Amino acid sequence: MTDEVWNTERLHDHFAQSLRVSEMYYDSKTEHQRLKVFQNGTFGRVLTLDDVVQTTEGDNFIYHEMLTHVPILAHGAAKRVLIIGGGDGGIAREVLKHASVEHVTMVEIDAGVVDFSKEYLPTLSQGAFDDARLNLVINDGAVFMKETDDKFDVIIVDSTDPIGPGEVLFTDTFYGHAARVLTEDGIIVTQNGVPFMQGDELTNTMRAFQALFQDATCYLATIPTYVGGPMALGWGSHSTKARNVDLATLEARFVAANLTPDYYTPEVQKAAFALPGYVKKLFP
Ligand code: SAM
Repeated sequence: MTDEVWNTERLHDHFAQSLRVSEMYYDSKTEHQRLKVFQNGTFGRVLTLDDVVQTTEGDNFIYHEMLTHVPILAHGAAKRVLIIGGGDGGIAREVLKHASVEHVTMVEIDAGVVDFSKEYLPTLSQGAFDDARLNLVINDGAVFMKETDDKFDVIIVDSTDPIGPGEVLFTDTFYGHAARVLTEDGIIVTQNGVPFMQGDELTNTMRAFQALFQDATCYLATIPTYVGGPMALGWGSHSTKARNVDLATLEARFVAANLTPDYYTPEVQKAAFALPGYVKKLFP
């Protein structure tokens, strides 16, 4: 009997992903979900919530760079950013690399994920939680969005999948309040699943975004541990201006931001919005 231990993610009915556990660092339940961190020979430390891979040391850069630099550089003058979810700190890390960003509100439902990620996954947040610009709010993102009177230039929804506590972040009500709190040229981007496996998630979000925003689409990035092909990142904006910024302008903003990403480039940004047929077919 092998002594191998594997963590199997059963996010989908007929397709699972298993990661070999070389060392289990933490496995316990918070008030909201079961939290695990373990070491994997390929991806380094892995964070799962209810056994679903949330992020890994090895490939998180792709997702975190594409969910932050794309809207912030497209906007060009984002000062106030709202993060919904993001408990591991990876999104906050990348947002705070933009010196132009003056204030970040991060609304995370589970303090356990934050406390725990600081201790077991410090390479994810890299000190972001200590940045004076960051205001961490422990609350349900849907409640915050409904109640806030603040305005934001960029909203980043870095949530779990629409099961459990994350479900409310995929509703028309949540999106409607997001549209209300966005500034005139504001942009919302969302973790919208892997369309080959979770097409109905994208269809649902795009239906809501088409009703709320002048510009409603998605862009793609391929993250190895979000299995089943490229992930869709939802995009909604009250103006088409941001998405159509020309490459030269994006490049100038990228240089001025003095970023050193390993996935994001201005060319990748432009190309990410070119959608294959099977993804476009998911749009209402
Ligand atoms: N990158 C990951 C993905 O694509 O699945 C998401 C990572 S991040 C850990 C997801 C975060 O969303 C978790 O910290 C979870 O606690 C948080 N979350 C889930 N539902 C939430 C809600 N209703 N309000 C705020 N945060 C929520």
